[in-house]
Amino acid sequence: MDKAELKLRESIVNACRSMNGLGINQGTSGNISARYGKLMLITPSGVPYDELKAKDIVTTLISSRGDKWNGALAPSSEWRFHLRILQDRPEAGSVVHTHSTYATTLAICNKPIPAIHYMVAAAGGPDIRVAPYATYGTEELSDLAMKALEGRTCCLLRNHGVIATGSDVRRALWLAVEIETLARQYYLSLALDNAQILPDAEITRVIEKFKNYGPPQKPAKRRAAE
Ligand code: 13P
Ligand code: ZN
Repeated sequence: MDKAELKLRESIVNACRSMNGLGINQGTSGNISARYGKLMLITPSGVPYDELKAKDIVTTLISSRGDKWNGALAPSSEWRFHLRILQDRPEAGSVVHTHSTYATTLAICNKPIPAIHYMVAAAGGPDIRVAPYATYGTEELSDLAMKALEGRTCCLLRNHGVIATGSDVRRALWLAVEIETLARQYYLSLALDNAQILPDAEITRVIEKFKNYGPPQKPAKRRAAE
């Protein structure tokens, strides 16, 4: 393993640990993947984040069907949607999956997040959809998630959690935190029963402004060795 891969593995481990502190994941729930040239690096299945080490990260070829893995541990049970996203979206350098409480609560109630705040533009459109329910780790869940992600950078998974994507681990984690904040705001505004929804044209304007906003974007191709 070269230095750049080790650095990326360490950034995945650090992001996992920070999810506990950020309150968007706990225990072994959720997972993170990142693109490293032709490889997908992903967290192993069922390892508590505070015990996770860089050597535990599992890898496979992005062009593969996920049938051959390098590493001592089994890949995250959600490797299917991580792999599909990296295969279908060359601009995606990382995928973060969480079970963050408020976003998952909305997903349980099958409530997409509308444009209650301009930050919804970080999703790439005027709402954050909820993918219908399918058992965790299945091809069916991966198919439903890809559909809910169409034209968006993130989605909710019914009775399950959140998928956030980004050009790198930092961006995907940033988005996962923003989704939880939006979900909390939406949940609270539902309690007051007078939520004002921004028009689509305003979200389009903010999407344009966001091209230069948020943690610095590093093109996945430049960052990772081929
Ligand atoms: P893994 O530990 O296999 O990554 O599973 C956690 C999870 O969130 C499943 O949806
Ligand atoms: Zn999950």
